[in-house]
Formats: sequence, C-alpha cells, structure tokens
Amino acid sequence: MSEKVVIIGSGPAGWAAAIYAARANLDPLLYEGTVKPEMIPLGQLAFTTEVENYPGFPFGNVREFVETSVDKERHWNLPPVPSEQRDGKPHYAVQGVELMELMKQQALNFQTRVVSDDIIDVDFTSQPLRVMPASGDPIESQTVIVATGARANYLGLDSEETYKNKGVSACAVCDGALPIYRNKPLAVIGGGDSAVEEATYLANLKDAATIYLVHRRDQLRASKIMQQRALDHPKIELVWNSVVEEVLGDGEMVTSLKLKSTVDDSERELEVGGMFVAIGHTPNTAFLHGKLEMNDKGYIHWKEPFRTLTSAEGVFAAGDVADDYYRQAITSAGTGCMAALDAERYLAAHEA
Ligand code: NDP
Repeated sequence: MSEKVVIIGSGPAGWAAAIYAARANLDPLLYEGTVKPEMIPLGQLAFTTEVENYPGFPFGNVREFVETSVDKERHWNLPPVPSEQRDGKPHYAVQGVELMELMKQQALNFQTRVVSDDIIDVDFTSQPLRVMPASGDPIESQTVIVATGARANYLGLDSEETYKNKGVSACAVCDGALPIYRNKPLAVIGGGDSAVEEATYLANLKDAATIYLVHRRDQLRASKIMQQRALDHPKIELVWNSVVEEVLGDGEMVTSLKLKSTVDDSERELEVGGMFVAIGHTPNTAFLHGKLEMNDKGYIHWKEPFRTLTSAEGVFAAGDVADDYYRQAITSAGTGCMAALDAERYLAAHEA
C-alpha cells in the first residue's frame, strides 16, 4: 500500500512538515537520516549550541521544559546544562539539540512514524512516487517532502574541527552574540555576501571589538553595496590575500589563527577569540541524483514563487535544501509547514 506523505530530513523543515501532515491525518512517514554529512539527523541545529533567535524561546529554565516534554529514552542526546547566571537567574537559551528534540517530540506526539535510515535514491517519474532507503524495500508514496537541508562548508582543517563550538562557527547570526565572543577580536573567513554580512553583523553588536575579514584574494566577491558597507565600517579590518593554516587555542577556546599569505607564502598569527567560516553552503541533494530541477548552485528549484512545488508532481521541497538565501531555523520550519499544506492540497485534488 502506498503512503500518503513521506518526509525526508529531520531538521526544522522536516519536523514542521511532519507536525502539520500528522495533524491533517496524513499519517506521515519521516526518514531522519543516519549518516553525516549527507542526511544529518536533527539537521544543522544539531551542531549549534544556544539558539537565541527562535521565537518563543527566551532565556529561562528551558531545561525543565525540555526534560518534561522529551521522552526519557532520548535524554541521553541532550547537551549538558550551561551554568551561566545573570542577575541571579539562569541565563539559559534553548540549545540546538534541545530545540530539535522538542520538534521531534511534537511530531511523535501526533504519531509521526520515524525511521532512522537514509534515503539513497528516488524515482519521481510516475505515481506512486518511490524512495529507496539504504536498508529495506523501496517505499511508495503519493507525495514526498524533501527537507534534507544544506551543510555549511568548512575549511577542512583538523584544528578547525577541534574548536567547533569552542570558537569556530559557520553562523555569526546564530552564534555571534553569545557571551564567549563578547569584547573579543573575531575573524570572518570568506569574501562573498555571506562573509561581509556576517562581519557587519558582528561589528554592529553592542560589545564588538575588531572584526577581521580574512579573504584569500585582494578583491571581495560580495556585491558592491555590501563591500562598501564592510570597507567603511570602523570596526571591520580587511585581511587580504590570506588563508587560515591552523586554528590555535588553549584547548577550551580559540585564541588565534595562523594565516598564510597567498602572495608570498609568509605566515603570521592573528589574535582572535573566534573564527566564523562563511565560504558557502552545499545543499544535501546528492541522493536525488539530479532527478529534480535545481538552480545553478544545486538548490532545489521551487516551480512557483512562494509555493513548495518542485519539478516533479507530488514532490515538495522545504527548508535550506531549497533556500540559499535566508537559511534560518524559523524560515525552514515555515516552509516545512507550507510543504505539508501543499501536499495536503495535492492529495485532496488527486483523491481517487
Ligand atoms: P559565495 O560562493 O558567494 O562566496 C564564497 C566566498 O568564500 C568567496 O569569496 C570564496 O572566495 C570564498 N571561499 C570559498 N572556498 C574557500 C576556501 N576553501 N577558503 C577560503 N575562502 C573560500 O557564497 P556566499 O555564502 O557568500 O553567498 C551565497 C549566495 O547567497 C550568493 O549568491 C550571495 O549573493 C547570496 N547572499 C546574499 C546576501 C544578501 O544579499 N544580503 C547575503 C548572503 C548571501 P573567492 O571569492 O576567491 O572564490
């Protein structure tokens, strides 16, 4: 028997789609992924610490809420409780994993069926659609929601890996305002719009120190208006023709970067308390083997503006896999909801 809705991916878009589809009695089947980096269980937020910008989650004793909401057998996945206090109160923003476990719980509460497996191929040429899990038989479904996200590109250094979440981040908007970065010189790596935007964001924070924008060439790729914004900003300093050779730290936090000149190979050390990598993203679409229309950057193309319809009938795309522009948890969850509503309307229109 064919499914009504199969959802591929377990970030905010996947869970939001599941919650909406389940509440519409579509009995969704969600593949949450097992293998990094192609299908990341719980999505990119699984790699984030505090999430301060997801509406509805102000600072507070979030952990009590998480522990009373999330099933006990998944508490092992919860991160340690941060100990920061401000004004004598716990200053505790929801952690990325906690937020995702809450979304997963909400989907489970409405009987979403969750499978810990990856989808490795699809056939969208005719109805019913088919998705192929890594193990087990192909699954037939009338609709499919692709919500596999995108992953931030990193430099690929071992030392960068060591300091992830200890001063290395790929999202200044998510992490830049955290106390660990306050009043410290910081580096943003890259020369595109994202790098300039992240540097400007950091430089405009209340407690900003110098923000170094480290680029491998002597010209930015960013749009002219964005470039000018960075060049004119009193707190942003351009470091041209330089690549990061090594991230240095004291074991707990980043303390500096070893930079190498792309012109004469000379090396220097740049003292910083954090490094934000902004060298682009890669959408997780390899498993589709080009069977959906993508844009020139490999993101799934929405057939109509503000609709989640893709080039294949009955297939919808939500979250970062179809968005190279906003890339926020809240926008991702929003398009997950849209995809579930689109799937519901598609099913209603095609009811036998
Ligand atoms: P881009 O691909 O535009 O830029 C990536 C940057 O990273 C380039 O400057 C590139 O250098 C550099 N880079 C790539 N790989 C490495 C590496 N291994 N080591 C060092 N540097 C590296 O990606 P963005 O994320 O900046 O932007 C993606 C899209 O989103 C663009 O179309 C952009 O316009 C858009 N965007 C728009 C915004 C806005 O309008 N507000 C904000 C953010 C993004 P090089 O230049 O030498 O190739």
